[in-house]
Amino acid sequence: MKLFAEHILLADGWHKNQLLTIENGVITSIETGEHVTAMALEGASDIEVKSIVIPGMVNCHSHAFQRAFAGFSEQGSEGNDSFWTWRNIMYQFLSQLTSKDAELIAQQLYIEMLRKGYTRVAEFHYLHHDIDGQPYPELAQMAKAIFNAAQSSGIGLTMLPVLYRFSGFGELAPNHGQRRFINDVTQFNQLVDDCFELAAKSSNANVGIAPHSLRAVDKDSLVAAVDHVRGKDPKAPIHIHIAEQQKEVNDCLTHYGKRPVQWLLDNVALDKHWCLIHATHIDEQERQGMIAQGTIAGICPTTEANLGDGIFPTTEFVAEHGTIAIGSDSHISVNPVEELRWLEYAQRLIKQQRAILADNATPSVGQFLWQQAAKGGAQSTSSNTGELAVGKQADLLVLDTQALSVYATGDQYRLDSLTFASIEQSIADVMVNGMWVVESGEHPLARETQKQFADLLARLSASTAN
Ligand SMILES: [Zn+2]
Repeated sequence: MKLFAEHILLADGWHKNQLLTIENGVITSIETGEHVTAMALEGASDIEVKSIVIPGMVNCHSHAFQRAFAGFSEQGSEGNDSFWTWRNIMYQFLSQLTSKDAELIAQQLYIEMLRKGYTRVAEFHYLHHDIDGQPYPELAQMAKAIFNAAQSSGIGLTMLPVLYRFSGFGELAPNHGQRRFINDVTQFNQLVDDCFELAAKSSNANVGIAPHSLRAVDKDSLVAAVDHVRGKDPKAPIHIHIAEQQKEVNDCLTHYGKRPVQWLLDNVALDKHWCLIHATHIDEQERQGMIAQGTIAGICPTTEANLGDGIFPTTEFVAEHGTIAIGSDSHISVNPVEELRWLEYAQRLIKQQRAILADNATPSVGQFLWQQAAKGGAQSTSSNTGELAVGKQADLLVLDTQALSVYATGDQYRLDSLTFASIEQSIADVMVNGMWVVESGEHPLARETQKQFADLLARLSASTAN
């Protein structure tokens, strides 16, 4: 197909009047010139004309099922709430979810993601077993639910099955709430193999792994799982929750005598396909170690704010050319614009300065963050996405000119307006892997899925209340 964009954000910045040829999901040429513009604007029948086009965003961190209890954990109890009390509510909620429920929740979530501009998601998938904690007859049944949801919604998927073994440092036995997550390494590697098979049968999907955290895996298991997946794919993404809570850092210091990121730097060959989720509490040496290895910081600003985690040192990390990606994690928000806005605002509040996350080449904060997060997200998923250029996958968004015309004038302001000033749905069309999956803000499955999702929520909240 041929797509003519009047304004388009390419890898090297904004351009006008560009004609993209897209074949088998990949951009194979980008042409410009008066003849191209004349042909497109005179209505050549095989050219689709769009106004403002930007690359799709990659969501580097998702636990799909958590979308269904977003909003169910905001009742205060005299200042005693924390990440750890939230986690207990999450475990309770999980005790009733079937794989069919998980598929419906993921489908609802992925449609929401697409409509807000995420074109690919890394699913940090740890809900493996049935309600009693027994493996399903088909070990990958839950993973299959996620693949199905990604295929039916049309979002690109990077499946990261999670290795989860213990409830705390020192190989503490898992607790009852964690029974659905637990695998030994042999069973886990089997699950990884099954996921590779599911990906081979899917379009636009790949596989990595996610050792859950240093509190949930021991060193031998971690190394064995990494070796196994890297034997199958040397570029397989590896994600880990690393330093979300101060307590986690303290426990790691007690057990290993090192801070979590430092322990990883000293014990594992970190590289640019590793993504450290919530590297929130790092010191200067850990920050520099991550940057030296090209390791990605996976930041989830709305979830980290919601859970009271802390603030990642984004200003310093970005100034030293660290690679960032964003994730919606618990899905208290499903909107890349809100993640990027919070990412910048948290820094402004700490530093008492403005317009921080940008550089001389790209002074627009909105544009700088969108491009950095999309590219870093692509790296975190080992996917050929994240920017619009010849040879890249056609994952792109068409902005709604009706919405933007109210407050954006000129290409250099468009993503600032989108990031800081938009209050409504600003994305008209979404293309993933060369195919339109959202048109005029609508996804074909949205209405029916939303209805089923509402019924599911009513059922779950009724039984939770009892
Ligand atoms: Zn997470």
